[in-house]
Amino acid sequence: MEGNKLSVLVVEDDNFQRQMIVKMLHSLNAQSVSGVSNGKDALAIIRKQSESRIDIVICDLNMPEMDGLEFLRHLGEERHNISIIITSALGSKLVLSASRMTKMYGVKLLGAIEKPMYPEQLRELFSKYERSEKKWHTLTESINFSLGEIVQGIRARQFESFLQPKVDLQTNRVTGAEALARWIHPELGVIGPYAFIPLLEQNNQIDELTFLILEKAASACRLLHDADCKITVSVNLSLISLGDITLADKITKIVRRAGIDPRYITLEITETAAMTDVAHALENLTRLCMNGFILSIDDYGTGYSSLQQLTRIAFSELKIDQSFIQDSINNEATRIVVKSSIDMARELNVKSVAEGVETREDWDMLKEMGCNMAQGYFIAKPMKNLDTFIGYFAENNFKHGKF
Ligand code: C2E
Ligand code: CA
Repeated sequence: MEGNKLSVLVVEDDNFQRQMIVKMLHSLNAQSVSGVSNGKDALAIIRKQSESRIDIVICDLNMPEMDGLEFLRHLGEERHNISIIITSALGSKLVLSASRMTKMYGVKLLGAIEKPMYPEQLRELFSKYERSEKKWHTLTESINFSLGEIVQGIRARQFESFLQPKVDLQTNRVTGAEALARWIHPELGVIGPYAFIPLLEQNNQIDELTFLILEKAASACRLLHDADCKITVSVNLSLISLGDITLADKITKIVRRAGIDPRYITLEITETAAMTDVAHALENLTRLCMNGFILSIDDYGTGYSSLQQLTRIAFSELKIDQSFIQDSINNEATRIVVKSSIDMARELNVKSVAEGVETREDWDMLKEMGCNMAQGYFIAKPMKNLDTFIGYFAENNFKHGKF
């Protein structure tokens, strides 16, 4: 994508560099470009924006008055819906920790570029922006559901689990699938999880959805096994659900009722909110593990620290967050993080799974690093239809594999 229709603000104290970036942006056809020399001025512009909204801020880290870090913190606290590109000459370690910090503040980080910057790098991040905006627009911004509407949809069983294959990087075989929640809205069609999960979690109402998706995923697993497609199915479990001490039993009952042994169900646990009740969570996880479920740490690398306390429990899988995978090709520091996560998983004797594998390059790199499993658009998108999944499985595992 070129920068058409994008409004970009450049925050850079070095006049020469700022002008270079502005020039680059013009050559990429950005619709509107402005430049300031520190975070304070940038924030003033952003706070004042009304119709002429800024889509992307390209931000240096080391600046006088208000540095990039402070600027990014304010941006997060004030909840501006702006995407960020960090640029710096301070070295990859520092850029990596600034990137992490940015995400922790809830700011949408498109990527980080070490100076000097090239137009190609910007063009790539712009197309990433376009892809993420498309997703965002179709799934959330254009439709704002109320909690009542969502809960009603769950009770009407309008939610389905779409299955995305997980492939063994050494044998190239499909050995699992992740169940991803979709709302099949009677008027609006397929709605993705960003439009309903955060609201359900904030209001402590995620359990009803969890149970429905688990039930659908377990019965899909049963049908898959009956069709000679003997895989494990992963279901996402919000950490906040683990506060309820009866959770493990409820989950076990649902899975057994579908005629599936818990060892074919992986529970992926992500941390989206700070957790208060670690003891209850540990009791639930231990019981789930005792009952035979496979436990997976989801989005590894992005969570808060309480998840680390949970690593004391018997996890069997570590899913490395897709932001790390996608950043790896261009960023050496990220590549090191990915590689050491894979090594750590091996040493802990747990499976490493890379999510968001989008290209052949990602695939080759992960294979080389000794990662166990991959999941992502390079392999296949989440599938609505079970027959499509069975067809994919048969084609890949029994005929000429795709990889
Ligand atoms: P997640 O667990 O990290 O799931 C992976 C997300 O990445 C999915 O988005 C999937 O469609 C997407 N994805 C897969 N491969 C690629 C790729 O190659 N490139 C890119 N850019 N994206 C890829 P989705 O389905 O929108 O789900 C978003 C998140 O919503 C999930 O992230 C998960 O945390 C949450 N979620 C989904 N279903 C459930 C559910 O039933 N319960 C709970 N609690 N959370 C769920
Ligand atoms: Ca997941």
